[in-house]
Amino acid sequence: MEGPRVVVLIILLLFIFLTPDQPARRRFILSNESIKERRQAQLSVLTNTTYGQFNPEAHRYLNLSGFREGDHYQWNSLAAVQDATRKQFQAIWSGQDPISDRPVYEQITGEIRGDFTRRVAPIPASGLNLTALDPRKEYMTPIFERNITEVNGELSMTLFDSNHIGSHETAAIRADLSIWTPSAPGNGWQARVQGVHLPSGQVIMSTTSSKFNAFFALPHFALTPDGFNASIEVMNQTVHKIWDRTFEDMNDGLAFAPQCELIVWLQPRPQGFQGLDAEQTRTFLHQVETELQAPQGAPIGQPPPLAFSAVIFSPDCGYVLESDSVYGPKVEAYWTLAQRLVFAFVTILGLQISLLKRQMEKASTPSTRSRIAYQGIVIAALGDGLLLFALIALLMIDEAAFLIIASAAFLACIHVAFLEVKFVFDIWTIQVGEPARAEQERQRRAAAAPSPARPTAPATNTTPLPVNPTSEGPVTPGTTNQSVPGTFPTQASTAPTNPNAPAGLPLPVVAPRPTGAVPIIIPSDQDSPFQPEIPSTRASFAAIYSRFYFSLVMLMFFSLWAMSWPRTLRSMYANFLVFAYFSFWWPQIYRNVMRNCRKALSWEYVIGISVLRAVPVLYWYFADNNLLAIDTSPRTAFVLLGWLWIQVALLASQQFLGPRLLVRESWCPPAYNYHPILREDDVEANGMSIGLLASASEAKDKDDKTRKVFDCAICMNEIDVPVILKAEPGGIIGRGTGATWLEQRNYMVTPCRHIFHADCLEGWMNLRLVCPVCRESLPPL
Ligand SMILES: [Zn+2]
Ligand SMILES: [Zn+2]
Repeated sequence: MEGPRVVVLIILLLFIFLTPDQPARRRFILSNESIKERRQAQLSVLTNTTYGQFNPEAHRYLNLSGFREGDHYQWNSLAAVQDATRKQFQAIWSGQDPISDRPVYEQITGEIRGDFTRRVAPIPASGLNLTALDPRKEYMTPIFERNITEVNGELSMTLFDSNHIGSHETAAIRADLSIWTPSAPGNGWQARVQGVHLPSGQVIMSTTSSKFNAFFALPHFALTPDGFNASIEVMNQTVHKIWDRTFEDMNDGLAFAPQCELIVWLQPRPQGFQGLDAEQTRTFLHQVETELQAPQGAPIGQPPPLAFSAVIFSPDCGYVLESDSVYGPKVEAYWTLAQRLVFAFVTILGLQISLLKRQMEKASTPSTRSRIAYQGIVIAALGDGLLLFALIALLMIDEAAFLIIASAAFLACIHVAFLEVKFVFDIWTIQVGEPARAEQERQRRAAAAPSPARPTAPATNTTPLPVNPTSEGPVTPGTTNQSVPGTFPTQASTAPTNPNAPAGLPLPVVAPRPTGAVPIIIPSDQDSPFQPEIPSTRASFAAIYSRFYFSLVMLMFFSLWAMSWPRTLRSMYANFLVFAYFSFWWPQIYRNVMRNCRKALSWEYVIGISVLRAVPVLYWYFADNNLLAIDTSPRTAFVLLGWLWIQVALLASQQFLGPRLLVRESWCPPAYNYHPILREDDVEANGMSIGLLASASEAKDKDDKTRKVFDCAICMNEIDVPVILKAEPGGIIGRGTGATWLEQRNYMVTPCRHIFHADCLEGWMNLRLVCPVCRESLPPL
C-alpha cells in the first residue's frame, strides 16, 4: 500500500530537482575584445545622440538591435504614443507646476496596481524577423508571449526606486510588471522593466532583451529634452553598475518564446489634501516619507497611496495599454500591513492551538475519543498544512519580516504536525480497531460458549439482554455489547409499541421500542474484559502519518500547479479548496448520526474553531486592497460562511434535539435511546428494576400519576420523571407533549434499566462505559 506512494513521491521530487531552470540553449561565447567593442558602440549611442535623433517617422534610427530600420518594430506609433502620454500628463497637472510644487512622493518604492484598456488595434508581430534580430537565440515557438489582445485587463507593478528621500533627483528605477488578462497565466504576464525616475516625478521604464536593446535607447523615450538629458546621466551610471556586476552579455532569462517588449511611462498624480496647498502638501509628504523610513512616532496617520497614470507601449506587438489610475501603498506601508496581518494570524493560531489543547484534554478517555470524527480534523489539518507551506514560501521571499513570519510558521508547524496529527492519531487508534475488535469478540464468544453466564443483577425483570440471534449458547452480558449491530433486526427503535406483546416477555422499559427486539448496543470501545489485538501501534502510527503527509504533499503540488492556471480557473480552484476546508464538521455530524451520540466536542471548541478558521480565509474575500490584490467577492464569502455555519447549526441541533432529528431512522444503524418515555405500567412493574423509588415520592403528590420520583445513584438526589399513563387497551400511546419531551432530556435510562440524571450519567460516561449500579456495559453516548 505504501510502496507505490513512496515511488510516486520520489519521482515527483526527482522531477522537481532535475528539471533545469532554463532550457539549455547554445550560447555564443564572446571574447573579451568583442564584448568591449560592443559595449563601446552601445555606449556611444547612449552618450552621443541628441533628443529627437531617434525619429522613425523621418527614417532616423539607432544602431541598436530593435531600433534599426530593418527590424520592423512599430516605431511609427512611438511619436503618437508619446504625444498621448504628454497630454495625459498635462491633463493631470493642469494648473500645477510639477517641477516647482512637487506635491508627490520623493521615493516611490511600492506596490501599485490598476485596470487598463488597450487602445490601438493589435498589429501582428509576424513582421519581425526574429532570426535576424537575434541570431544567438532559438525560440521554441514563434508565438509571442505578453501579446495582449483583450481590451481590458489589470496591471500591477512592484517599483524599486533608488531615489533618496529629501532629494527630487533623477534616479534609476526598476519594476516587476504583471499584466492580467483573461487569457494570461495565473500570475499574469510578467516583465522586468528598468529606467529612470525623473525630477518631475515621471517614470520611464522599458524591458530589455537580446532582440530589444532598449537600455541604451531609453532616453529617447523621454517626453521632453530635459527628461532626455537627465536620463542619459542616470543610464550611463546604471550601465556601468550592471557591467561591473555581470560579465556576461545581456540576456533575458527564459526564452521559450519571444516576448512582447514594453515601454512604460508613469505620470504621477498630484496628491491633494483638504486645506493644504501644493507647498504644504509637499512638506507633509516629506514628513510622511521620513517617518516611514525611520519611524520616530510622528502622527502621520495612514500614509496616502502612491498614485499614477500609466501608458504602456509595445513596439513589436503594436499595442498601447492606458490606465488612468494605478495606485497602491508605499513599500513601508505595505510591509506594515503585512506584518500586522501575520501578527493577527499568529494570534489566531495561538488561540486555535489553545482551543485544540483544551479539546484534547477533554477528550482524553477512550469513550470521549471514540465520539470524535477524526476525518474532520484531517480536513482541517490539510488546510492548515497548506497554510504552513504558504508561510514557508513567504519566509523565503521576504527577509524584512523574517522574525514574525518565522514565528507564524513555527506555530503553524506545531499546530499541524504536533497537535492535529497527534490528535488524529489518538482518535484513530481508538476507532480503527472497532470492526476488528467486534469481529474478534464474536469469535471469542463462540469459543467461550460453555462458560457459565454471569447472573445478571435483577434477573427476573431485566430487559432481555441483547441476544445475538446467530450466536449459540448462553451469552455473557459483558460480551453481548460487542456484538455486531448488523446482525440484529433493524427496526427503528421508535416503532410503535405492540400492545399485544407476547405474555412471557417482560414489559419493555421504553414505551416505543422495536417489536420483539432488544436495545442495540454499539461496541463500546473500552471496558472490554478481553484485550483485543488491534493492529500494532507502530504500524498504524506509520500508516496514518505517511498517509497524511502524502496527501498534504500531493495537495501542495497540485495547488502549485493550479497557481499557473488562468485567473478564473485559479479562483474556482481556490473557492473549491476553501469549500472543502470549510466542510470540517460534516464528518462529525455524520458520526453523531451513525452512532447516535451527541457530545463529541465541546461548544467552546466548535464555535471557537469555526470563527478562527473562517477569519483568515475570509480576509481575502472581503478586504479591498488586500495584500495579494485578490479580487474580493463577498457573495462567494457569504455562501462559504453559510456552508460553515449550517454545519455548526446542525451540530447544535444534534446536541440539543438529538442526533437523528433530521434523518430517517432507517438510514442509520439502530442505536440505543437513552431518553425513553417511561410508562406507568412499566415503572410499576414488579420489582422496580428501573431504579430506586425514592421514599420521598410516597409523601409527595401521591395522586399525581403522571410523575414519579427516583433516586439518582450518582448524586443521591431525586429525579422527577414524567410518566405516561397506562394506555387504553388497543389505544396508541402518544409521544408526550413538548414539555415532557424537554424533560426527557433531564434523565437517562440505561439498557440495564437504571435511571440517572442526564448530567450525572454523562459525566460518568466520560470516564467509564459501565453502569454505576450494576456494572453492565453501556453503549457510548
Ligand atoms: Zn444525579
Ligand atoms: Zn445498571
